[in-house]
Amino acid sequence: MAPVVDTLRLTAEDAIGLVQRGDVSAGELHAAYLEAIEERDGELHAYLRTVEEADGASIPIALKDVISTRGVETTAGSRILEGYVPVFDATVAARCRAAGLTLLGKTNTDEFAMGSSTENSAWGPSRNPWDPALVPGGSGGGTAAAVSAGLAPWGLGSDTGGSIKQPSALCGNVGLRPTYGSVSRFGVVAFASSLDQIGPVAKTVRDVALLYSIIAGRDRCDSTTVELPEEVRLPEDERVDGLRIGVPRQLADLDAIEPGVRAAFERSLELAEELGAELGECDLPLSYRYGMPCYYLVAPAEASSNLARYDGVRYGLRTEADTYDGMVERTRDDGFGPEPKRRIMLGTYALSAGYYEAFYGQAQKVRTLLIREHREALEPFDVIATPTSPAVAFPIGDKAADPLAMYACDLLTIPSCLAGLPGLSIPCGLSDGLPVGLQLLGPQFGENTLFRLGHALERALGFDTVPERLR
Ligand code: GLN
Repeated sequence: MAPVVDTLRLTAEDAIGLVQRGDVSAGELHAAYLEAIEERDGELHAYLRTVEEADGASIPIALKDVISTRGVETTAGSRILEGYVPVFDATVAARCRAAGLTLLGKTNTDEFAMGSSTENSAWGPSRNPWDPALVPGGSGGGTAAAVSAGLAPWGLGSDTGGSIKQPSALCGNVGLRPTYGSVSRFGVVAFASSLDQIGPVAKTVRDVALLYSIIAGRDRCDSTTVELPEEVRLPEDERVDGLRIGVPRQLADLDAIEPGVRAAFERSLELAEELGAELGECDLPLSYRYGMPCYYLVAPAEASSNLARYDGVRYGLRTEADTYDGMVERTRDDGFGPEPKRRIMLGTYALSAGYYEAFYGQAQKVRTLLIREHREALEPFDVIATPTSPAVAFPIGDKAADPLAMYACDLLTIPSCLAGLPGLSIPCGLSDGLPVGLQLLGPQFGENTLFRLGHALERALGFDTVPERLR
């Protein structure tokens, strides 16, 4: 029997239309996605677990496994949280539920969202739907692979230094890392609290904007959140006359950017000009020089403190021993994989007496400079454009043994994360048959402008989000 809907091309907006018109029921839609998962997820491993029944609501959604879901196991890709079943929903999960979205499943992630390829998951890697020999990016590779392969109309990821934008780029999806403070982190497994943000991944900019409107806004359970200064506007078809786009001069000197990525990026800038935008040059010299070292002190420092709570007493795994200290030690040794261990050590060192000022203190000062640099660069522009990732998807195993090569994947996404700014990644073409992402950065709460430009470009580019081998 042919499935009722072909999930490969279905956008969330399409799905909402089908259900509202009564063309398919919520149950049939959910079943169609489960069928697609059954068919294709054996190869891709986008999901860690699925939810069998639609709970009467309407449109299915996939949530990255760092988001707590009441009654559904939440592991953050780590053995140390194996068997942990939250008794409450994260605010974003609750808001999705309240908006009539129903949980389709929990998607794979690098352990505690630490990584750029999803290979650091304790449950095995996810694969890229464009070529299963390649990584889908990370840490939100599960959500990205699911959306790209039609295993979910949309999903939520978390982004600390690029984990929404980079996998979206590598899988040909649209992904938004929102302004820090616009989306609640309550109930989300914390990695680096001053950087973590939750955001949508989908096939279109309009779907991303719609999902953003559902999750954003003040939450009294997360004191870093604020009410959005303006309502989310779903972008309409229009030109972008007079919109000013800044392109960092420093991109020209970054050898890490592959020629095919550069070509697709430049083509999308030409298109933006044809749509009425005005291009100019801006400067982010400190960002590309010091962004990574700064992030790899701040993020591990915060992680070392956030991960101290996994002691075998309260959540998930416990390895028994004769003494309390022995139990904690053995639990942490068994439960954490190599990457969280590396970061706990790095972060603890950076925070330790005698080194605090030299490492963590200096990194905080650099962060302030990066905030300032972005503010100045954005002064004459509405948007800054760069490629999202310097390279397209790479083979599984390629960088697994080389942490620094893995960290370098986030060269272009990290600086604006440190500055707390929003970033939208849209697919802007292919290089060697693989998707290339265009990153659009804006000032705080500049999401509506990113959506407007992203939507106009998306239409002009006409990128087919369905991986060639699945068409
Ligand atoms: N790849 C980066 C890291 O490993 C970013 C991860 C993220 O944004 N969660 O820290």
